[in-house]
This record gives sequence, structure tokens and C-alpha cells, in this order.
Amino acid sequence: MKTTLWGWGAQRRVECDVFAPESTSDVRGLLDTQGTLARGLGRSYGDAALNEHRRVLTMTRLDRYLSFDETTGVLRAEAGVSLVQIVRDFGPRGFLPLITPGTKFVTLGGCIANDVHGKAHHAQGSFLESVDSFRMVTATGATVTASRSENADLFFASFGGMGLLGVITDVTLELRRVETTWFRQRAIVVKHLEAMLDALEEADATFPYSVAYVDPLATGASLGRGVLTVGDHATRAELPKAKEPLHVGAGAKLVVPFELPELTLNPLTIRVVNQVIQAVLRNAGDFSHAESFFYPLDAINEWNRGYGRRGFIQYQFVVPMEGGRQTLRALLETIVSSGQLPFLNILKRMGPSNAAPLSFPMKGYTFAIDFPVRDGLVELTHRLDAMVADAGGRTYLGKDSYLEAATFRRMYARLDEWLAVKRTWDPANVFTSDLGRRLALVG
Ligand SMILES: Cc1cc2nc3c(=O)[nH]c(=O)nc-3n(C[C@H](O)[C@H](O)[C@H](O)COP(=O)(O)OP(=O)(O)OC[C@H]3O[C@@H](n4cnc5c(N)ncnc54)[C@H](O)[C@@H]3O)c2cc1C
Repeated sequence: MKTTLWGWGAQRRVECDVFAPESTSDVRGLLDTQGTLARGLGRSYGDAALNEHRRVLTMTRLDRYLSFDETTGVLRAEAGVSLVQIVRDFGPRGFLPLITPGTKFVTLGGCIANDVHGKAHHAQGSFLESVDSFRMVTATGATVTASRSENADLFFASFGGMGLLGVITDVTLELRRVETTWFRQRAIVVKHLEAMLDALEEADATFPYSVAYVDPLATGASLGRGVLTVGDHATRAELPKAKEPLHVGAGAKLVVPFELPELTLNPLTIRVVNQVIQAVLRNAGDFSHAESFFYPLDAINEWNRGYGRRGFIQYQFVVPMEGGRQTLRALLETIVSSGQLPFLNILKRMGPSNAAPLSFPMKGYTFAIDFPVRDGLVELTHRLDAMVADAGGRTYLGKDSYLEAATFRRMYARLDEWLAVKRTWDPANVFTSDLGRRLALVG
């Protein structure tokens, strides 16, 4: 059915030919050689899950659990199962996702395609670490199993492979056994960038989870000031008696009811909102529920509408540790002096990269920041892209909207390796997307 789709940033809306398969055989029957793409819950910000005038298979009806081993925590589930389902169904049994991004409204297939990372990347790696194997419908219509030992090229290239190698139908992954669904946390107020990077380094040596929020409007000596939050899973012994150890919540209470007019966003409102965010972070209690700790934004449904009709982008980059402090300073200065309206953001350190050729994370500093779409934004991101590439860093395709193919090639040194896997498994480009065409991942 012809349907208008958009990414989470809603800055581009395109008509696609959308189907919702309910089984692997449906998926097989729906492959279209003119261009097919799987889509999860559409939480990628840009055009990763769009396929203009071509076929999109929304995978959310493949949402069944296939098996679970309580002794090992190994779950086999269809690829449309979401992390919110897993938190709700397995939290009360003492299991949470092993690796999770900053929203639980994502599917297993989407988590693989972007090789998502979370607040503990420096200690625990990205989604690849949690997956044993998956099954995929490939370009010929065959269903193949991929793991570290079987079709290993397809396995690794699919993490960060942006759905362009086939449709993942089910996934075998490990969950994390937890004593409680609560977090022990601490907020640290930091006055400037150097101090923030020192604090992050110190935190990462002690806590598996760490993330900083930077005041995006602070300049000069205050550039990079903000609040660092660190934490770890609370044990039963640590938890105050009043808290139910394996509690899981009922869902979001607030909804942004409609797209706010653009007038709502101006330098003054942005300044006020940023200050409110910092105050909330500073005053967070000693214990927070895993859902508030991991997914603070999920408390408000459809918060993306708050950015207005022109939508917004999130820009996320990682730059290597070596020289990273200077690069980060230069990038932040470019952002704060750009005249754009920098908003929600996250700064953290990442651990080493993995064996997946297009996986985003690499050892270094990563920064993610939202900008409502205004004139001049594309030019700003291109300037930032060039600075990131020059520094040996890269931007995150799951958030990307405007990156150009030539700069992408400079950022991802193992691109040719990935393209060779694409030629092996999908030489006729059955699997396509708007992002794939923009970045020359598909012919
Ligand atoms: C509030 C918020 C916070 C976020 N925080 C983080 C974060 O901390 N870390 C992080 O890494 N990311 C983060 N993200 C991005 C998000 O985790 C990824 O974009 C994720 O891939 C979205 O999953 P999805 O199911 O919505 O997939 P979609 O956005 O629908 O699709 C993403 C990609 O997955 C592919 N895909 C989906 N299903 C399948 C399948 N079954 N088979 C093959 N390919 C498939 C699509 O083709 C597309 O290329 C955040 C997003 C939001 C909105």
C-alpha cells in the first residue's frame, strides 16, 4: 500500500510501497527486485528506513518469542520483537537486554542493522556482542543462518549493514541477568570541557555506564560544561526496602499531542529548556529505574513532534582519542558559533571497534546533538563532516541525514570490504534504501 513514511527526525517524508509481513514465507513472497527494505520501528533519525517509491517491509508483526533458556538467558525471537517487549516480559523474570540504545522502541532487526550502542559501550561493546546468530531472507529468497562460524561474512557485515543485505527474520541473543531493574546512579556537575573529559575518563575506569549532557550554549571558558551521570545495576542488598526489585513500568504518561509550531523554538526557549534539563539531571536521586536511566526520552511519547513541522536531525560523530580533545573542542566551537539551535545532546567515551566493517563505534569521544531544521543546517553538517573525517573519525548512519558519499568513504575505511559482501549476497541490489543510494552503498 502506498504510504508516506519518515524517519524519527521527520525532516524528509516520502511515499513508499509498504507491506507488513507476518511470517518468513510472507517476507519471501514480498521481495521485489526493483528495491526492497526492511523497517523496524522507524527510530533511525534520517533516511535509513526509507525507500522512496519502492517496497518497505514493516517487520513489527514478526514479534513472537521462539524460545528462552532461563539458565543461560539466551532468547530466540523474531526480528520485529522490540526492546520494550523484552523489558516488559523479561524484566520481572530478572533479565534485561544485554546491550541497549537510548530508546526501547527499537526492534531486534533495527538494532542489528545499526549495530546500536549504549551508555556502556566503553565496557560492553555494541549490539553485536549480544547476538549469537540470526536468520535472514537473502536476495535469492533463500533463508540463511548467519553467525560467527556460519556465513560469517554476512553476519559481521549485517551489523551496521543498514538492512541492505537482506531481511533478518529471527535472532538468537543473550539477555543480561539482573538482581533488580534499578540503577545506582550519581550526577556530577562539571565546569568546562577539559574537566568533563577528565571526569568521563575517571568514571569509565569505575562505572560501566556513563554519559554526559553538555550545555550546548556555553561558550569561552565554560565551553563543555554540563552534568555527567554515572551508574551501575543496583543489587538487591543495595536497594532501599520500599522499591520492588524487579518492577517494570506501565509505559509513557505524556504525549506531545501535535507538531509544535516552529515559533516555539527560539534561542530563548532553547536556553530555558536546556537549563531545565540540567537541573533535572543534577537533582536525580541515588536510585533510578532502569527505564529512566536507559531511556529518559521514552517518558514522553512522540517527543519528536516538539521540534515542529520542518523536523530535526541528530548529528552524532566519534573522533579518535588521540588528538580527540582538540578536535572535540573545535567541533563544539563550530556548533555553538553556528547560529543554529543546538539542543539535546550526549557526550561519552567509546571503547574499541569490532569486527563489523560498517559498525559505527570506535575508540574515542562520541557526541550526539539535536538541531531543529533551519536554513544553513545542511551546510553546517557538511562542515562538521569534513572536520570529523579529517580527524580520522566518522558519523553515525543511524542518525545521519545529509552526509555525502565521498566523505562517507573517507570515514569508513573498511567500506570496500562491506561492498564485496554486498556483491556476494545481493549482486543485483534487491535491497535498497534512500540512505543506501545517497551513500553509494547500492548501485
Ligand atoms: C530517542 C532515541 C535514542 C536513541 N539512542 C541511541 C543510542 O543510544 N545508541 C544507538 O546506537 N542508537 C540510538 N538510537 C537510534 C536507534 O537505536 C537506531 O536507529 C535503531 O536502528 C532503530 O531501530 P528500529 O527498529 O526503529 O529500526 P528502523 O529505524 O526502522 O530501521 C533502521 C535500520 O534497520 C534496518 N532494519 C530494520 N529491521 C530489519 C530487519 N528485520 N532486517 C534487516 N534490516 C532491518 C532498516 O532497513 C534500517 O536500515 C536512538 C534513537 C532514538 C529515537
